Amino acid sequence: MTEKKKSGFIPGLISGMATTAKTAMRPADTQHYPDEKPALPPRSRGVIALQTDNCTSCMLCARECPDWCIYIDSHKETIPPATEGGRARQQNVLDRFAIDFSLCMYCGICIEVCPFDALFWSPEFEYAETDIRDLLHEKDRLGEWMATVPPPAAIDPGADLTKTDGPEADS
Ligand code: SF4
Ligand code: SF4
Repeated sequence: MTEKKKSGFIPGLISGMATTAKTAMRPADTQHYPDEKPALPPRSRGVIALQTDNCTSCMLCARECPDWCIYIDSHKETIPPATEGGRARQQNVLDRFAIDFSLCMYCGICIEVCPFDALFWSPEFEYAETDIRDLLHEKDRLGEWMATVPPPAAIDPGADLTKTDGPEADS
């Protein structure tokens, strides 16, 4: 080792040890999951929950899904007229609604396009499986996740409600 290199080695070593000592004194930033649950951001995309009663089997979400990982089956039922002389109505009855989370890329398009508020983001993320085929979840499981959906965020105090398309704009 040359004299020049030796002279830079000692200060470098001292500075490195000082950094190590300083870091060793600092409390750890890591969280002890699963004993300690992570504090997730309010709009976390953990899993998609289904409000089964709101779903009309319109198929819009399945058609718009870029991964084709939403599977819907339904049948039509005839609803008798509510009043005498009225007309019977046809209604879709949801038989199957499933999402394959091994294909889903969590883009949120299905949630955005649903016209009936039947799909929601849940922050729930603890649904890992050891077999990829078990990531296909049916409507019962998707419905259970509704309990974990947070209430909608409050409107930003600075929001100008006169510029929305909602009923506020007309008032
Ligand atoms: S989040 Fe995107 S990829 Fe996943 S099911 Fe919805 S539309 Fe399909
Ligand atoms: S878009 Fe909404 S209402 Fe239509 S099938 Fe999908 S979840 Fe059901």
